[in-house]
Amino acid sequence: MTERIFNFAAGPAVLPEPVLEEAQRDLISLPGVGMSVMEISHRSKTFDAIIQGCEADIRRLAAIPSGYHVLFLQGGASLQFAMVPMNLMPAGGKADYIVTGSWGKKAVKEAQKFGTAQIAGSTESESFTRVPDASELKLDPSAAYVHFTSNETIQGVEWKQEPSVGAVPLVCDASSDIFSRPIDVRKYALIYAGAQKNLGPSGVTLVILRNDLLDRVPKNLAAMLDYRVQVENKSLYNTPPVFGVYIMRLTIKWLLEQGGLEAMGRRNAEKAKVLYDAIDGSGGYYRPHAEPAHRSNMNVTFRLPSEELEKKFVSEATAAKLDSLKGHRSVGGIRASIYNAFPRAGVEALVGFMKEFQKKNG
Ligand code: PMP
Repeated sequence: MTERIFNFAAGPAVLPEPVLEEAQRDLISLPGVGMSVMEISHRSKTFDAIIQGCEADIRRLAAIPSGYHVLFLQGGASLQFAMVPMNLMPAGGKADYIVTGSWGKKAVKEAQKFGTAQIAGSTESESFTRVPDASELKLDPSAAYVHFTSNETIQGVEWKQEPSVGAVPLVCDASSDIFSRPIDVRKYALIYAGAQKNLGPSGVTLVILRNDLLDRVPKNLAAMLDYRVQVENKSLYNTPPVFGVYIMRLTIKWLLEQGGLEAMGRRNAEKAKVLYDAIDGSGGYYRPHAEPAHRSNMNVTFRLPSEELEKKFVSEATAAKLDSLKGHRSVGGIRASIYNAFPRAGVEALVGFMKEFQKKNG
């Protein structure tokens, strides 16, 4: 099959076509190198240019100040659930967690193995349909850090602005909305994201961390799990995921060519609005999961009048080349993931399909 369909998958997810085309063109031999990117040493000049170019472009894209390090690690965002407390929570210490969905809960579960993960706020009792208001947060000024999830991929709930946490370092799992809109990195101590939604293929995890955090890293950590070792070795302590970094490099270049984060933010908001307008205009046939002010621009989640209709919706959509719309098994319903690389035409095609489906099954 050479024709591409509309891929609404939550991750791994759709990548920009120009990125895939360039990777395909240069897969057998990088220009001027005569070997594939997967066949060269990670300590070669060629790979050095790729990883350093990637970092430089990330710094430019997100205006990352010089006091921050940019790391390309492995183990996914899930390993960061553990690395963050291992590195930043003192022995017997405590950290605050704001929980707005399934991934935040997983982060808490890992952190509890290393110290006290205090729930500083949670909307679980409301099925994670929103993020907590500032007045609902119980922040501990002596916590080692505050952790939150900027976008909950499963529930489709997104912070429109990061929580205000005073002087306590703010740590963010930005796996599913990183670089989808402008971000003021100076408000954060550490940001991490698995690449497989907005940045590239799975296998590489982007970590942006403020230099002063390294002072807290305990001495006895396994090298691979130690931020200090990773910083000192510029993510090359061991063999990095070279192909993942290469694709991320192309994806970041593509983001810059698209006009950067302001332009992406605008486009993503417009794309999501097309879909939310269709949901809101369906007279209650399609029911959104998240409250309007907290809706994700990346993962649009909604229900139909019955599970039977949801099954039918997904299977007919798949037949119409609208792929991977089934909601996460833990919450059911429909989830349309529309990350940076997802085209507006695909959102419009889905809206057309939704109208037809309602007409026939309403
Ligand atoms: N956090 C969020 C917000 C996610 O969406 C995901 C993956 N879907 C994860 C963490 C886990 O990421 P990984 O599979 O890279 O460990």
